[in-house]
Formats: sequence, structure tokens, C-alpha cells
Amino acid sequence: MEFPCSHCQHALNWLNDSRFQCPQCHHHYQQQAHCPECQHLLQTLSACGSVSYFCQHGHGLISRQRVLFSYLPVQE
Ligand SMILES: [Zn+2]
Ligand SMILES: [Zn+2]
Repeated sequence: MEFPCSHCQHALNWLNDSRFQCPQCHHHYQQQAHCPECQHLLQTLSACGSVSYFCQHGHGLISRQRVLFSYLPVQE
């Protein structure tokens, strides 16, 4: 997962769940999954260690390869 920090462009480190942190300036980011068809936020379903993504706007299950990820800065 290579995504640059929007503050310093350093690659982010994965923390846990969908949290990422910049190791250089320590900003936190929340990873969000979007539907490739309608761009709405996907519902994340975790079961048995694997994660599925579900669009509640009529596009059903979205495979991880098709999910669009964005990174929202988190205010601590
Ligand atoms: Zn940074
Ligand atoms: Zn959709």
C-alpha cells in the first residue's frame, strides 16, 4: 500500500484496521473504500479474517481489486 502523506509526501505506515500514519510528520489517515461505479462509501464487512466491500447503492459486493481507496486526514 503506497500512499504519500499529503503534508510531506512520505509513504504512510499501516497502523491497524484502516488507520495509517506518516512516520515522518505523524499525521494520521483513515482509509476509506469507495465504489468504482458510484463513488459512494462502501460498507466494510469482515468475516473470518477476510474483508468484503459492499455498495449500498445497488452495486452489491465489490472485489478488493476494484475498490477505490482514499485517505482522509484524521484530527487527533
Ligand atoms: Zn507526513
Ligand atoms: Zn455503487
